[in-house]
Amino acid sequence: MPPRRPARLTVLSGPSGVGKSTLVARLRGQRPDVWLSVSATTRPPRPGEADGVDYFFVDHAEFAGLVERGELLEYAEFAGNFYGTPRAAVLEHLADGVPVVLEIDLQGARQVRAALPDAQLVFVAPPSWDALVARLVGRGTEPEDVIERRLRTARIELAAEAEFDATVVNASVEEAALALVALMGLSGSDGTTGRAPVTDHDLAAQPGAVRPGAVPPA
Ligand code: 5GP
Repeated sequence: MPPRRPARLTVLSGPSGVGKSTLVARLRGQRPDVWLSVSATTRPPRPGEADGVDYFFVDHAEFAGLVERGELLEYAEFAGNFYGTPRAAVLEHLADGVPVVLEIDLQGARQVRAALPDAQLVFVAPPSWDALVARLVGRGTEPEDVIERRLRTARIELAAEAEFDATVVNASVEEAALALVALMGLSGSDGTTGRAPVTDHDLAAQPGAVRPGAVPPA
């Protein structure tokens, strides 16, 4: 049997609250063959989150050990907690021909670009700044000071959109997931093909990717 062709890595990034997790869940509903990397974090679990499923929940000493042993492909501090991508599982899945998705912050996306230049970086944008604020406040999972911190970071992250290969606007999760399937060059579960423009932000033809600006008020 010929060796499998290595698959491509897709990095999803975008401001906290933009709905990346929901988008990835929908993507995996459409394409169960896509593997989502499970990150390690020092953040405490939210209600309903399970260790080894949503994250590997570790303490600071364990996280430092992962860094020291070079076991993370990238890592970053985000809003007071550390997050990192275990390297081995990502590389193994790619080598086996399994498309891999990372859902990580901007700092991590930049590190992946440096380490694996063939990775496709996709920016997930909110339909508007107000929509992002409403989502972050409305989900009720963080205290006010944490929300403010995440909104400050969101302004920085939104300003970095041009560094990405493509943008998907998360207005309708269904359409955004379809746009993502197309960007990844996969077929949808309905058999639609997935050739898509991947080199720039000219994505007007992609469902879910038509974007008015998401620039926050100054
Ligand atoms: P949350 O605490 O809301 O689950 O995640 C906070 C932020 O950390 C999100 O932007 C999420 O994408 C990012 N994040 C999750 N896992 C990783 C990771 O392994 N590395 C990096 N750099 N960021 C991550």
